[in-house]
Amino acid sequence: MADTPTPEALDALLAPLAAEDEALIAARTSIEVTRPGIEVSPSAGRLLNILAAAAGAKRVLEFGTLAGYSTIWLARAVGPTGRVVSLELERRNAETARRNFEAAGVSAWVDIMCGPAAKTSARLTELQVTPFDFVFIDADKATLPTYLERSMALTKPGSLIVIDNVVRAGKVLHPDDDDARGVRAALQMASDDPRLVVTAIQTVGTKGWDGFALLRRVDF
Ligand code: SAM
Repeated sequence: MADTPTPEALDALLAPLAAEDEALIAARTSIEVTRPGIEVSPSAGRLLNILAAAAGAKRVLEFGTLAGYSTIWLARAVGPTGRVVSLELERRNAETARRNFEAAGVSAWVDIMCGPAAKTSARLTELQVTPFDFVFIDADKATLPTYLERSMALTKPGSLIVIDNVVRAGKVLHPDDDDARGVRAALQMASDDPRLVVTAIQTVGTKGWDGFALLRRVDF
């Protein structure tokens, strides 16, 4: 075979599989947010959309909204009879995301709770909201063990929990990095928890080498 193709060349080949409309492109390219460009890739967005739809999810919880790109993929999976609650720290990001939800036509069934996700998720637990059947965790990594604990309290048997950035081009193995420690602790918690079956898939592309952990509650 010829030289190994570049990630860009492969992305160009695969891009039509996760085709975006204008609203998704606008959310992905929003520059008003605190850290533009750290959303999931289009193919990862489509993967979330397929996983949530295949799981029959109607209630989705997301940790980390940014401009709402992944939220829109998830909102389209649950449809107008579903609900997505997304937790975001930064008011500026929440405002941008709300505008993007309007443009995408999903704002009627998407809520953002603004503030530290450790607090807003605790509030949801206090309120005893109807359990979520799909959770996407994509906020700060150091607090991941808390987010996993909250996700377990806010889901039910059969629910699916997806954790982003569990590889980060190998940085997850770094012994002294708080983010890496958070990811490793959450993966350990998940694999020790008899209520869960767990795996991880590694991904490559223009956004680099990374991965999703997939956790399914099996405590029926
Ligand atoms: N899920 C988004 C997407 O793919 O379109 C990207 C989320 S971005 C990687 C991470 C987000 O988590 C940022 O918007 C950041 O402001 C938010 N965040 C960071 N720390 C947080 C915290 N303690 N509580 C809630 N959100 C937080």
